[in-house]
Amino acid sequence: MTRSADTHCPYCALQCAMTLTPTGAPAGRPDATTDAAAAPVTVAGRDFPTNRGGLCKKGWTSAELLTAPSRLGAPLVRGADGALHETSWDEALDLVATSLRGIRSAHGADAVGVFGGGGLTNEKAYLLGKFARLALGTSRIDYNGRYCMSSAAAAGNRAFGVDRGLPFPLEDLDGAETVLLLGTNVAETMPPFIGHLAGAQAAGGLVVVDPRRTATARLTDDGRGLHVQPVPGTDLPLLLGLIHIVIAERLVDLDYIGSRTVGFDRVRRSVAAWWPERVQSVTGVAALTLKRLARRLASGANTYILTGRGVEQHVDGTDTATAAINLALLLGLPGRAGSGYGTLTGQGNGQGGREHGQKCDQLPGYRKIVDPEARAHVARVWGVSPDVIPGPGVPAVELLKLLGAPGGVRALMVHGSNLVVSSPNVLDVRAGLERLDLLVVCDFFLSETAALADVVLPITQWAEEEGTMTSLEGRVIRRRRALTPPDGVRDELWILHELAERLGSTAAFDTDPEAVFEELRLASEGGIADYSGIDYAMLDRGDAAYWPFPRGGESTPRLFVDRFAHADGLARLVPVAVRESARPVATGDEITLITGRLLEHYQSGAQTRRVPELLAARPELIASLHPATGLRLGIEDDDRVEVSNVRGIVHCRARLTPDIRPDAVFLPFHYGDEQTANLLTSDEVDPISAMPEFKTNVVGIRRLASV
Ligand code: SF4
Repeated sequence: MTRSADTHCPYCALQCAMTLTPTGAPAGRPDATTDAAAAPVTVAGRDFPTNRGGLCKKGWTSAELLTAPSRLGAPLVRGADGALHETSWDEALDLVATSLRGIRSAHGADAVGVFGGGGLTNEKAYLLGKFARLALGTSRIDYNGRYCMSSAAAAGNRAFGVDRGLPFPLEDLDGAETVLLLGTNVAETMPPFIGHLAGAQAAGGLVVVDPRRTATARLTDDGRGLHVQPVPGTDLPLLLGLIHIVIAERLVDLDYIGSRTVGFDRVRRSVAAWWPERVQSVTGVAALTLKRLARRLASGANTYILTGRGVEQHVDGTDTATAAINLALLLGLPGRAGSGYGTLTGQGNGQGGREHGQKCDQLPGYRKIVDPEARAHVARVWGVSPDVIPGPGVPAVELLKLLGAPGGVRALMVHGSNLVVSSPNVLDVRAGLERLDLLVVCDFFLSETAALADVVLPITQWAEEEGTMTSLEGRVIRRRRALTPPDGVRDELWILHELAERLGSTAAFDTDPEAVFEELRLASEGGIADYSGIDYAMLDRGDAAYWPFPRGGESTPRLFVDRFAHADGLARLVPVAVRESARPVATGDEITLITGRLLEHYQSGAQTRRVPELLAARPELIASLHPATGLRLGIEDDDRVEVSNVRGIVHCRARLTPDIRPDAVFLPFHYGDEQTANLLTSDEVDPISAMPEFKTNVVGIRRLASV
């Protein structure tokens, strides 16, 4: 089957709309009779509220993923010679099922772990959670969204009683006079987004907080906006200082605080000591700048505060996101027309992926797995006793520490994650994977993680499958098939179905995405993320479907208009404090490592490094350093350098740029093997959300002798 299909980009959470038109060229990896350069579809941007026809270069080149020469075309099984060899689907699945059964009977059900991904469709994420709990009987499932959104999600749940990245449609930003972007570089990570910042830019109200002068920060170069460049890792003191000023200068919306929130007095007391001069001494941001910023945020009617990974990927990420929410609440922004607070989801289905059961503590519908009512509801939908559903597992980093450990995980199934590139403290993760009795990886390519696997199962890509995704707005959208998948690959729904049968599960594991979605609707009904009123037919008509969307009810594009999701309808102002011991501090010649993203690559780069145009633009890891740092350390532009700490060593080229502070080095995390930035990141986690620290690790850096 080949047909033109209106669908969305395979990459980030903006989920730009695109139309794929088959060209007649064969799908799948090229062989001697096909032209490697001929893409089987053309990609055209399609008008949609988030992207308005625009795509970034990742979207424009996405068709090349379909015929990348390294695309897997048959299951791989590791042979006695230690190499991976192609085999049949039956043989691969029989081997996986037999091994899983053996490990389970020898070590118990929790000896099998499952690691999911924020790029899986809602249907896959839902079925994977069900598969783990019913077919495998394990509690040990979590996913890579733990590295992405978990702290912001925890903060949102704590403050509002619900976690939806943007609780309003993106188009609302068009009317903004002031937008505060905290630790997000949308101009590179999701370029069409910046179209929604034009109003704030024109009004002189675009404010970017980032230790780097990113492409987004440069949007303020006309002098009308503001780029605030704090010391890395001081986002929380900065926000506490802004709250202090807002309170001290009586900029608080007292009517809103009185009618819509609780906890003001405790927050007021908690920031009393964060006077502007003290904040200046900690953050490096001038007290006058802080005051100017606080007044700007309070001055207009249409103000938005948005957070991204820069302030969230910390060991105090939940508290930092909470401080941003506190600031927004004090200004009366959430739920007020033309204003708001939100967090910008990164992965393609980062929102839906965290709603339907991939998280270790959740069941579909964003239900708590420890809640007896939630368990009873989902058990009814699954046709089992609630007792059959395992209790809570452990979050991602802890799960990875259990790999091959006594009493830990002996087998791991990985879906939509490249663990040895994207996880913190990669050397330990790699060692854990190598200790396993069985590693099964589902992927399109032989990613760095798949290369370690005992069994690799090749899967369909976005242009070859049906399903739904939930964008950063909480809007459910359709992924549609334009191409028949190549012969040798399979949909993950089919894989889970086949494995469940082989494992003797009596639960239903449908292979039809629409049927799975119908079950997801039932399972989510009455939950926080209620999808029960949404069906494929309405999505195919183009109806806007923002959750919660109860059966017989309506879409909810804007949350918090009248009430928050806590039982009393009020938002929580939660006092937070700086934990001095939370992060290591650079001393002597040490420097703070910031990891992040580039325009040309997505996540671990497993896909985008296989697109020639993207790889040519950003072929290798580059360490960005300030010229003053280069001078201090004897490093010149284009020198090869060693970046290291107690966890690992990375060799790469240096680029000297004034766009970064002298106390920091930036490494993108899109590269594998010896260029993996996460060789250097810590697996210490935020005690509330289990988010690791990706933004302020301490490293040494030195010039390598020329060769
Ligand atoms: Fe795809 Fe994101 Fe680029 Fe849009 S911004 S084309 S969704 S990668």
